[in-house]
Amino acid sequence: MPVIVKGGTVVNSDQSFQADVYCEDGIIQAVGPDMDAPSGVEVLDADGCYVMPGGIDPHTHMELPFMGTVASEDFFSGTTAGAVGGTTMIIDFVIPGPEEDVLETYHKWMGWAEKSCMDYSFHVAITWWDDSVHEAMGTLCREHGVNSFKHFMAYKGTIMADDETLVNSFTRARELGALCTVHAESGELVHHYQKKIFDSGITGPEGHPQSRPPQIEGEAANRAIRFAQTLDVPLYLVHNSCSHSLNEIARARREGQRVFGEVLAGHLLVDDSVYLNNDFEFAAAHVMSPPFRPKANLEALWRGLQSGDLQTTATDHCCFCADQKAIGKDDFRKIPNGTGGIEDRMNVLWTHGVNTGRLTVNEFVSVTSANTAKIFNIYPRKGLIAEGSDADLAIFDSKATHTISSKTHHQNVDFNIFEGMELTGLNVATVSQGSIVYKDGDVRTEKGAGRYVERPCFAPYYSAIEKRSSATGPTSVDRS
Ligand SMILES: [Zn+2]
Repeated sequence: MPVIVKGGTVVNSDQSFQADVYCEDGIIQAVGPDMDAPSGVEVLDADGCYVMPGGIDPHTHMELPFMGTVASEDFFSGTTAGAVGGTTMIIDFVIPGPEEDVLETYHKWMGWAEKSCMDYSFHVAITWWDDSVHEAMGTLCREHGVNSFKHFMAYKGTIMADDETLVNSFTRARELGALCTVHAESGELVHHYQKKIFDSGITGPEGHPQSRPPQIEGEAANRAIRFAQTLDVPLYLVHNSCSHSLNEIARARREGQRVFGEVLAGHLLVDDSVYLNNDFEFAAAHVMSPPFRPKANLEALWRGLQSGDLQTTATDHCCFCADQKAIGKDDFRKIPNGTGGIEDRMNVLWTHGVNTGRLTVNEFVSVTSANTAKIFNIYPRKGLIAEGSDADLAIFDSKATHTISSKTHHQNVDFNIFEGMELTGLNVATVSQGSIVYKDGDVRTEKGAGRYVERPCFAPYYSAIEKRSSATGPTSVDRS
């Protein structure tokens, strides 16, 4: 049934205006004031609310097999929780194990994701290298709409991409017009430090942050950025958690390099004191990589978002319940890494970003959807309210209040890193593909309704990179 969203303030990344939004066949058909609502059209009353593009979470791990277990949130439960919080699209990760066939792994993940109720797409991780990986990257770009490849610089001995793999993969991505992304933590230093901390007798979750200090993230960020600079490829750094990596991004951008940075809602709002809690379950529930950081980093990350050095927000939604975290009861190195947040990202960013004056409502749209859509080359299909764009909408009531709790959240996990946080202003209704999937507590998501979103290579910034490199590339001298 067609839907008309009436009486709200439409907020895009560039402007806000009073308008109704008419959705049919999954597409926004019209945006304008005082539209008629013919019979047979469902009316969604948005009086006094902000009507924004549905959120895009570019960093999730639904039902990920990891560290001896599988993430508790599957593609249906996870995208449903996202929908409740106003997120209408995720970009998840295909992660082949060492020597695992890349295309087969991609198809395996595509099978799991069929149960999604929101639109989804995939980054593909390059975790090892040979000619078949080189071929697979081409096939993924040309035939499967993958335009971004992920590189784990951490997790030595399992999924870590070594320097040689980074060079090979970055070079291949450049040929294909794809975006390189990295998890920036030095796997070598983490490995060394983890052993040192554990051998010193620190076996609890407090060993986790102590074995991955921020300079380890700064080192890897700088290495990835310099690799990308030398190999002339655009780079996106996921989950920046500290000023060390942020400063490297800021410097590179000042030098004219195409470098993008993501920050997680959790890293903006949770600090490392959580690891000192006496309760193992509480401390272990916060184990994720990179870890939560000393408080000064939180404000630095906010400033990164405000200044534009960081462009996107995500969650790294990767849920493990208490019994799964208990795998690492006697050894922090075995605690499955991951925390949730897909349901809360937009809401906590509103309360702590918009309500505090750090972000305008338009900047809120930029960092929750529009910038992500541009960087991953699906704009203006996503990230914009305009005729012809996908009818994915988040309706925010700036006066609505809510207290976050794992008892009432929709995420399939027994813990919430934002437990007890009081929100003012939150998503009260969500439209996905032109249908109302959430309204005032009523969840109407449908298993399998989500579509795979293809993302073409050669995003607009690629032509700029190519012009720069032809102007500044290697030259030879004719001495004949
Ligand atoms: Zn991740």
